[in-house]
Parts: sequence; C-alpha cells; structure tokens
Amino acid sequence: MEKRVIMFPLPLQGCINPMLQLAKILHSRGFSITVIHTRFNAPKASNHPLFNFLEIEDGVSEKEKDYNVMSLLAQINRNAESPFHDCLRKLLLQSQESEKISCLIDDCGWLFTQSVSESLNLPRLVLCTFKATFLNAYPIIPLLRTKGYLPVSDSEAEDSVLEFPPLRKRDLLRVIREDEVELGPFLRVTVETTMRSSGIIFMSCEELEKESLNIAKEIFKVPVFAVGPFHSYFSASSSSLFTQDETCVPWLDKQEDKSVIYVSLGSVVNVKESEFLEIAYGLYNSKQPFLWVVRPGLVQGVEWITLLSEELMSSLEEKGKIVKWAPQQEVLAHRAIGGFLTHNGWNSTLESICEGVPMICLPGGWDQMLNSRFVSDIWKVGIHLEGRIEREEIKKAVRLLMMENEGEKIRERMNVLKDEVAKSVKHGGSSFRSIETLATHILSL
Ligand code: UDP
Repeated sequence: MEKRVIMFPLPLQGCINPMLQLAKILHSRGFSITVIHTRFNAPKASNHPLFNFLEIEDGVSEKEKDYNVMSLLAQINRNAESPFHDCLRKLLLQSQESEKISCLIDDCGWLFTQSVSESLNLPRLVLCTFKATFLNAYPIIPLLRTKGYLPVSDSEAEDSVLEFPPLRKRDLLRVIREDEVELGPFLRVTVETTMRSSGIIFMSCEELEKESLNIAKEIFKVPVFAVGPFHSYFSASSSSLFTQDETCVPWLDKQEDKSVIYVSLGSVVNVKESEFLEIAYGLYNSKQPFLWVVRPGLVQGVEWITLLSEELMSSLEEKGKIVKWAPQQEVLAHRAIGGFLTHNGWNSTLESICEGVPMICLPGGWDQMLNSRFVSDIWKVGIHLEGRIEREEIKKAVRLLMMENEGEKIRERMNVLKDEVAKSVKHGGSSFRSIETLATHILSL
C-alpha cells in the first residue's frame, strides 16, 4: 500500500528549504509527498515534479511583504487555520483505499496544526529547523524576561546566562526583545503542542549536540530524530524563493584557492544604511576578494544598492562581486571560498560546517545569537564580531581569518568538525540510522 506524508512548511526561506529537503529524504525512502503551502512565499511546484502541491489562503497582502517575522507568524497563524483544516480534511476524505496518509509533518512554528490533526485523527510530527538547544530553551525564555537580566550593564555583558549556556547576557536583548508581547504565548503554545505530537525531527546530529538531543527527549517526552544536516542528502537550491545569480560561479573559478570571503546575512535579517556602508568599507579595506549577497530589502528602507556611490561601487568591483542571491551551497563548496561572514541562521551555519568553511559571526537575533556562540565559543570555528558593524572590525576579522596563523587554527578545527559531521550522514552513521528509525516510526503510526 502506498504511504503518503503531508508536509506544511512555514513560508520563510529558512523553513521551506529544510521541509522540502526532508520531503526528498522521505520520498527516497518510498513515501509519497503532498505539500500544503501558503500563497505567501509559495515554493515553486514546477521544481518538484514528484510532489503534489496544494495552496491555501493566508490573508497576507503584497504590501505586507516587508515583514517583521514575529508579526508575520502571528498573522498567518491566525489566518491559515481554517483553510488548512479544510484542505487536510478533504485530503483525508479523498485518500484512496490503495493509499494511507501516514502523518502530517509541519514546522514547530505553526500553532494550530496539532489541534487540527488531532481533530482529524492524523498523527503529527514536528520539524524543528533550528538547533535543539534553542527549542529546549523555549520553556525558559519567557521566564528570563522576569529575571531582571535586562537592561544589561556593560560590566555584565560578557557573563554567561546560567539558564541558557553558552548565551552571554549581551545576547539576551536580541532573544527576549522587551517589546514583543506575543512572544510568551507563542513559545508556550509551541512547547505544549510539540509535547502532544508524535515526535520531533531535528535538522541536526549527535556530533553537534548529543546532550541537547537527550534533553529534548526529556523535556518534550516524545521520540526525537536527528536526521543530520539535510543538505548533505539534497541541495536546497530547488526551493529557493529568489533567483540565484549563477554568474558568481565562473567569477569564483577565476579566484585563488581559499582566497574569497563569502558574505550573506540570509533571507530575513536587515541592516541600517550606515551599517551597510561599514560592511562595504570593511570588505574593501580588507583587500581580500569577496562575494557579497545584497538581497533586495537587506538595507532598511532601500530597494537595492543605489545608495553606493559610483566611485565606491567601482572600487568594490575591483576586488569583489555583489549579487542579489547566490547558489549558497555551491558557493560554500567552491575551492575559492576561504571564509563566510554570516548571520548564523541554522541552515547557513550547517552548510558552512559541512563545507568546512570557517565563519565570521554577525547574528541578527533569535536563535542566531545561540548558533554564533556555538561557532565562536564552543566549537571555536569562527570569529564573533560581537555586533560591531564597523569597518575596522570587519577588516580585522577578515584578515585574521584569511591571512593569519590564528585563522589557520580556526580552519583546522573546522576541518575536524566537518569530518565528524560527514561521518554522521554516511552509511551506518548516527544521522543515517536516524532516518531509518524515522521511516519505521512513520510506518508504525
Ligand atoms: N541562501 C541562498 N542564497 C543566498 C543566501 C541564502 O541559497 O544568497 C539559502 C541558504 O543556503 C540557506 C537559506 O537560504 O539554506 C537561509 O537559511 P538560514 O537558516 O541560514 O537563514 P534565514 O534566511 O532563515 O535567516
């Protein structure tokens, strides 16, 4: 009998990529796949001819595309529940005798899906697209607000947050954000619905966070599957929402081995105009070749890089290449890349580890604050800019990573970490075995 899995990604690039990669992993294990998705940020169905796609309304209008993630999540969680319920109910009614719909797999950021799936008697598995350590902190993040950590004084800024290592107090402001009233209920519902689910799938592996994975089992009391960095099995490029500028690959071909610093702050983070200029000058002054992703919307209030003077632009082009969106995985795997100035989204962090590219950390907020601490303080495979978006700091970090002895040591540690993670996804490795267990678990539901 054919077994079908229904998948429902959150409509953000960093969530769509892992969901569709997981879909490919499950498809390769013999499952048929239906993807339910919102109209907003809809994945390109034509890139995935083997899956069925069903679109639902989300009430997000075009003008809201300049979004704040938290309010977008609140809005689509309010608007998509009833269309999702109708869509799933119809699918279950239509499912043929020859086919069983085994389960729903959706993002832990959907707040209503557990109740909907319970009402339709369909088991639900939760996909967590960030580090398990961060999901484990969901129950305590609202409590941290009341602990009087904020505001953080300069003398305490570097201290660890005891309840949330290896986070430092200076990181907290960008995690608990005093102004966000919806955060507490959002986290509580996520924890409560995840505990009622039939399991959590992490895009992670034991080699990166064995202890956190064990803690997740204790907190959520459901089966946990750490399937590995998903892009080790399938690239994310087919689920890109933006057009990838392929001209960066022939440009990289002309550069020397490990000479180029790749710069990208992902799909959501944005910077002020003044910060953008500091990055531009920092890269230029470093005298290293660079490939810089300047996504439309990266600079607050500016459509694209019209704010760079012709003079600065032509100076930048002497050493670097600027694109609107890159085929990131291919770029990181290129022999010419020697470092990654990143916002430390979990996908980007994993992609960098898997390609053995050491990082310069410039996290924007939320789980990126934690990922960057793991990179700089625990694994020691990157340099943390500590939020200093200043030309001199950026120049120093780039030169240290690419030219100096200390940078060489960071690279050596990164190669060790890369090899450990690579073992995990090979035949017999912990992630590889976890895929087997996950497939068996789904069949048993
Ligand atoms: N990405 C890409 N091209 C770019 C920049 C990013 O393909 O120019 C991809 C990247 O490979 C990753 C995803 O977009 O898979 C970004 O996810 P991440 O979790 O790193 O950050 P987010 O965008 O969610 O902040």
